[in-house]
Amino acid sequence: MELLNIKINKIFFILFLIISSCYATETKKVSLQLQWKYQFQFAGYIMAKEKGFYKDVGLDVDIKEWNYDIDMVDEVINGHSEYAVARPTSLIDISNGKKIIYLATIFQSSPLILLTDKSSGITSIKDFKHKRVMTTGDLNSDTSLLSMMFSHNISLEDLDIQKPSFNPSDLLDGKTDLMAAYISNEPFILKEKGGSPVIFSPKDYGFNFYNDMIITSQKHLLEAPQEVKNFKEATLKGWEYAFSHIQESVHTIYKKYNTQKKSKNALNFEANELKKLAYFRTDTLGKMEKYKLEKVYDVYKLLGLIQKKIDFDEIIYDQYIAALQLSQKEKEYLQKKKTITMCIDPNWMPFEHFDEDGNYEGMSADYFNVLTKNLGVDFRVIKASSWSESVALAKERKCDILSLAMQTPQRKKYWNFTTPYLKIPLVVATRLNVPFINDIKDLEGKKIGIAKDYAFVELLKKQYPELNIIEVENIDDGLQRVKERELFGYIGTLATIGYRFQNKYGGDLKITGKIAENWELGIGVRNDDPILLTILEKGINQITKEQHREILNRWISIKYEKGKDYSALWKVIGVFTLIALLGIYIMRKQEKLKRNLKETNEKLERAYYELQQMAITDKLTQLYNRHELDRVLEKEKSRADRYGQIFGVMIIDIDFFKMINDTYGHHTGDTILKDLATILKVNSRESDIIGRWGGEEFLIIVPQVNEESISTFAHILRKKVEQHLFIEKHKVTISIGITIYRVSEPIEVTISRADEALYMSKNKGRNLVHQQ
Ligand code: GH3
Ligand code: MG
Ligand code: MG
Repeated sequence: MELLNIKINKIFFILFLIISSCYATETKKVSLQLQWKYQFQFAGYIMAKEKGFYKDVGLDVDIKEWNYDIDMVDEVINGHSEYAVARPTSLIDISNGKKIIYLATIFQSSPLILLTDKSSGITSIKDFKHKRVMTTGDLNSDTSLLSMMFSHNISLEDLDIQKPSFNPSDLLDGKTDLMAAYISNEPFILKEKGGSPVIFSPKDYGFNFYNDMIITSQKHLLEAPQEVKNFKEATLKGWEYAFSHIQESVHTIYKKYNTQKKSKNALNFEANELKKLAYFRTDTLGKMEKYKLEKVYDVYKLLGLIQKKIDFDEIIYDQYIAALQLSQKEKEYLQKKKTITMCIDPNWMPFEHFDEDGNYEGMSADYFNVLTKNLGVDFRVIKASSWSESVALAKERKCDILSLAMQTPQRKKYWNFTTPYLKIPLVVATRLNVPFINDIKDLEGKKIGIAKDYAFVELLKKQYPELNIIEVENIDDGLQRVKERELFGYIGTLATIGYRFQNKYGGDLKITGKIAENWELGIGVRNDDPILLTILEKGINQITKEQHREILNRWISIKYEKGKDYSALWKVIGVFTLIALLGIYIMRKQEKLKRNLKETNEKLERAYYELQQMAITDKLTQLYNRHELDRVLEKEKSRADRYGQIFGVMIIDIDFFKMINDTYGHHTGDTILKDLATILKVNSRESDIIGRWGGEEFLIIVPQVNEESISTFAHILRKKVEQHLFIEKHKVTISIGITIYRVSEPIEVTISRADEALYMSKNKGRNLVHQQ
């Protein structure tokens, strides 16, 4: 009968396939949400539509322009659009639990840049300091720009952020100094207006973010895998066409999709710039690699935008599909095998049993119906009268699989196990007068029953040797013995105990606590058949959340069946049980929330700390950078002015460093800089602030000193360096200029005095200390 059921399901499925393939000649309406207005940036989709590539695969694609209230990820998650063109920030959405799949990425590198005009005099990122910048200021959307600036010690506070006008003329009219822009749009406009664009592109500074990723929801992929595949292929075909027929594509957009009223020249410029980004370091259009996404993730993490982990194998289409689809070898195996024999527990409701007529039913039966559909294979149930008999049959290889079993070391001898498809909380049932059990340790020394042969006997005994575990025949035997005070409690799953409470024991027993471990059950597969394991694993991976939920709801919700007359007491007990369960649930949930909050805070703090470190540290020497030295100098100045706490400044310059570089190479030069930094650090006090002032110049801020003590300190440093063997047969020496801060003077004056002192040391022959 159960076989018949499965067969019928399969027949329906095949019928469905036949019917749906008949309909395939008719087009299906789907929509694609863009991330901006029509322009060449979307030429691939437009050409796929115009050239009939979508139609060829049965799709009628509505290409939707972006609007201010549109969030591309939410569009596909909510099912408003099947597909969308998304930004790299969609990774943040993924880490927040939104299930989307990247089908492909059109741009290997982000078109987002910072644009200025030559007349601004800005030639490098460090010139950005105190400049006016037009950007949304939105950390999320401009992360690549932020990382580029940040890596050059420019942070948001260094900038005067202005609201974007999206008008490059503002660069010429003196309304702003820099603006966030698209490499394919604004530079062209600026040039047209007579400007000379200067471009700062994150990719030139090591921040290479994907952009224009085509996404769909995981749900849609599972529901319509063939359509998704077709859409992806037709889209990439459209893009290949657009890039190899730029003129025609520009013409099409100009004529039919020109909502922005762009000129043909502007569209042409856009086409050529974007083509470079689409093929940046690759010949394969749309290529998406895990490691590049991981890098973007790392940057977001550092910026504190992402806290949760992402499973990267689950978000890239090609990888995702490979994990779900049967290989050729697996398909051939199934064709040959035809039916898979299966042993079940004949008496384990609601998980599984044979009903009075001998039909296989329960949660696992529902799951195997789904698997039959997913894999297109028959499962034949072998009858046994007890779980022990089923296990024995499986050991003799009379059945290929155990429908629902927990992995234990013992069982590994005969079976491999798939990923668990059922996770059920384990609970303790006791008599009514027992107080709440918070921890399994509360059960120490007490007699606890567990049904024999169940995997948890083995695991619990090993994990909690203090427990006095008594093996009982089955759940009824166990609960009966608890009722009769022979046992203190019985451990079983929430599902099985809850199920028994509906029928028996309601007035006598209650669920008193939950055990940390869940009962995790998968399919046990004979271990001499590894292909069968991977096939079933793929079948399980294809089960959707909805299907899981449906099956759980069907069997586990504690129902009060109509028609049965429960006594008032029963009802009260039922309510109490529910309240107890709810209590456990809420407690656990709160604990978890607290834990999560704490973790998030800690992670944020750590990321922020790393960010701060990044902002103030010189990368090569790991000393403070110029940025930080400037800040501390100002701080020390105001402290000295206010409280008279005088500080000294020391500037150190390596002698003949240019020659060392020229003779031994830059790499050796760098090593010397690092070694010197270490010498300075090791020989100074905790309170001294040591930083890299410039190329081979260092500056030390020495708090609470006088002329004598700072001079002694400088001489020690000079000597230590002189004595240190940096490179064979070559002495490296330093010259030092020192000075003491004079109250109320500008800090620049102090610095230039130290500089003069340094100059004196150099002039008098180097490897010297001079004080001014
Ligand atoms: P002196 O100071 O004794 O007058 O001679 P010098 O040769 O040290 O003088 P100068 O200041 O002209 O040269 C500094 C050199 O330091 C120039 C540059 O090649 C080198 N330099 C600056 N920064 C770095 C760096 O980060 N790594 C390496 N390897 N060399 C650097
Ligand atoms: Mg120098
Ligand atoms: Mg020098």
